[in-house]
Amino acid sequence: MKRLGIRWKLTLWYGGVLAVVLTVFSLAVYFTLRHQLLGRIDQGLDEELADVRYEITRATDAKTLHEWLTRRFAGHEGFDFQITRPDGERFFINPRLADRELPIPPQAAQSGTAAYESVSLAAGRWRVIRVVMQGPDGPLFVQVARSLAAFDHESSELLLAFLLTGPLTLLVAVGGGYFLARRALAPVQRMTQTADDISAERLNQRLEVENAGDELGALAETLNRMIGRLEQSFAEMQRFTADAAHELRTPLAVIRNEAEVALRSPRSPAEYARVLENLLEETNRLTSLAEQLLFLSRQDAGLHENTQEPVATHELVSEVVGNMQLVAQEKGVMLVLQENQPFQLASDPRQLRRVLYNLLDNAIKYTPPPGRASVRSTITSAGWALEVADTGMGIAPEHVPHIFERFYRIDPARSANGAGAGLGLSICRAIVKSLGGQIRADSTVGKGTTFRVVLPVHEA
Ligand code: ADP
Repeated sequence: MKRLGIRWKLTLWYGGVLAVVLTVFSLAVYFTLRHQLLGRIDQGLDEELADVRYEITRATDAKTLHEWLTRRFAGHEGFDFQITRPDGERFFINPRLADRELPIPPQAAQSGTAAYESVSLAAGRWRVIRVVMQGPDGPLFVQVARSLAAFDHESSELLLAFLLTGPLTLLVAVGGGYFLARRALAPVQRMTQTADDISAERLNQRLEVENAGDELGALAETLNRMIGRLEQSFAEMQRFTADAAHELRTPLAVIRNEAEVALRSPRSPAEYARVLENLLEETNRLTSLAEQLLFLSRQDAGLHENTQEPVATHELVSEVVGNMQLVAQEKGVMLVLQENQPFQLASDPRQLRRVLYNLLDNAIKYTPPPGRASVRSTITSAGWALEVADTGMGIAPEHVPHIFERFYRIDPARSANGAGAGLGLSICRAIVKSLGGQIRADSTVGKGTTFRVVLPVHEA
């Protein structure tokens, strides 16, 4: 079965609750009124019985009693009377009742205290009060009755009125409820339409916030914030793709150019070797770029899961520093391991190596000889701290906040020989973030730069 929409659900719930309330209310009114009416009838019967009782007690013989009763009660408007002797002989009955006697209960049920009952005769229903009392010449069974025709008529009219107005009221109220639900949910429909229209190319659109104070307004604002974040990440993605394409184009153009020039005329083996060397260098750049891009996109997509293994940081640091000695020497930069506290933590050693290689690579790359690059690995209250400092060219304060962005290079010319694409630090940041740590740079132009990585400690 197709699921009902909120509008219908609200309306049906509302209708159901209203139907129950209306039914309970109608039944309560109906039965209370009936009870009150019957009470009034019984009261009237009581008063009439008192009159009959009075006549019977003051009569001295049956004949006068019969005369008095006939005079007083035979033509009574609202009430009927029937008086019988214990042997069943009728002593008095008013003419209206003459042809339809009130049923006489068995002897045992007759008593000196008055009792009420409702009696059904062929001609309709009667309310009867009955009592046995002493007459002038023996006991008399007195019954005073009142026809319930008017009462039954009023009751059924009331019931009919409820049966007619109830469903009608319900229908009008449910119609109104549906209309109100429609009105209340109209903003949702508009939001759905706008949201439907928003595509990758139209992420600058926002949902209309009609009333920021209500639930739908809050929903629209939340969705707008979400679209804002989507717009931002989409723009970042577009920039990233454009930058990546641009970076790939340069080495590819160089390769094509070299190859075309080389092929134009015959060359000596030494010249071919030089061309091939150039091609190899560009291919290496492309490979490293492709590898960096792949790494970043895997990291973004959450495809790279960090391992959690015991890492002896002092061993890892001295291994990487040792491996970079040759690079530093070639550049004429002194690389020193200034401090290396022995420590074990649970982390991903491959990722940690990658961070340290990148930072050292930069420190050497951006430090003119005879500069110095130094590494410190210490334990602090915040966790394991790794510092890579250099006495290089430094970074101007306005660039510092951006150096961790993808493809951000302060001056492509100054790193041209190092052939960096501006991804090294963004990779460092992505790794450190995925390990739950922090990375930051402090730099003074002309004096040098210090990168500091702090990882929270999960001791192995
Ligand atoms: P690249 O591959 O170009 O080195 P990075 O992301 O590693 O890219 O660094 C971004 C930019 O930050 C570099 O272009 C460089 O200008 C600057 N930078 C990074 N490390 C240092 C450093 N140790 N000293 C001075 N500048 C640095």
